[in-house]
Amino acid sequence: MALAVTEPSGGSDVANLKTRAVRDGDFYRVTGSKTFITSGIRADYYTVAVRTGGDGFAGISLLLVEKGAPGFSVGRKLKKMGWWASDTAELFFDDCRVPVSNLIGAENMGFAGIMANFQSERLSLAIMANMTAQLAFEEAMKWAQRREAFGKPIGKFQVLKHRLAEMATQLEVSREFTCRQAAKMAAKMAAGKSVIKEISMAKNFATDMADRLTYDALQIMGGMGYMRESLVERLYRDNRILSIGGGSREIMNEIISKQMGL
Ligand SMILES: Cc1cc2nc3c(=O)[nH]c(=O)nc-3n(C[C@H](O)[C@H](O)[C@H](O)COP(=O)(O)OP(=O)(O)OC[C@H]3O[C@@H](n4cnc5c(N)ncnc54)[C@H](O)[C@@H]3O)c2cc1C
Repeated sequence: MALAVTEPSGGSDVANLKTRAVRDGDFYRVTGSKTFITSGIRADYYTVAVRTGGDGFAGISLLLVEKGAPGFSVGRKLKKMGWWASDTAELFFDDCRVPVSNLIGAENMGFAGIMANFQSERLSLAIMANMTAQLAFEEAMKWAQRREAFGKPIGKFQVLKHRLAEMATQLEVSREFTCRQAAKMAAKMAAGKSVIKEISMAKNFATDMADRLTYDALQIMGGMGYMRESLVERLYRDNRILSIGGGSREIMNEIISKQMGL
């Protein structure tokens, strides 16, 4: 399955999406396009955000579109910096007929569904960043203990010892914060409350920490860190998407500042 929200005209401003679905008897007729859709090539089913009503967030609905639906086509597999294990694709809707029974939730209530789903997606991305950083840290530690320069393991140089100490600290702080917010999210969701501010903070903190940590791990590994055979080279590339997808760092900061009353 794939979730198709982002369009060529933009992904951050979800409330402004343009793919239109017009009711025609027992069908919607969908026209528009999506891009950067994870698993767009391999998916059998697509949850597609469409405009069924007027402008803004109150005019958005979610439709389940099946591969092979008339008027629906999948474009090329996009080449990207990292995440090579997942495909990323463009989707095209040319007067695509979708049964009305494929509407997910109520008509024009799709924005709330997208936003609710974003909470767990953003938490997952924070966890993914912490795990990416953990792997990079372990690789850097092993290398620092094994690799020798000027007659001793490079991990014995104070500048690298301190860098590794700082990496361990940042990682620990980020992981603890993310776990705490996950527990808070579980408790608050059970009570019907939102943790939108804290989850946005966890995503930004973890993804920024992991960007820095994978950069530093690669530096500690020197030329080997730059080689395709090095795990850290992959982690460095893979992590870069995490502060863009699922709501960018800037959009997280918009949410946080709004929750702060700014
Ligand atoms: C590998 C990959 C997988 C993806 N998978 C999916 C998927 O499965 N489904 C899906 O729907 N989308 C997916 N996306 C799209 C992703 O969600 C968007 O790329 C992201 O939301 C940003 O949208 P955009 O790229 O259009 O950038 P834009 O919205 O054009 O933003 C460009 C820049 O402007 C900044 N910006 C925008 N608005 C503001 C503001 N108000 N204040 C300050 N700065 C701002 C952004 O933070 C960003 O830095 C994927 C993207 C990638 C790269």
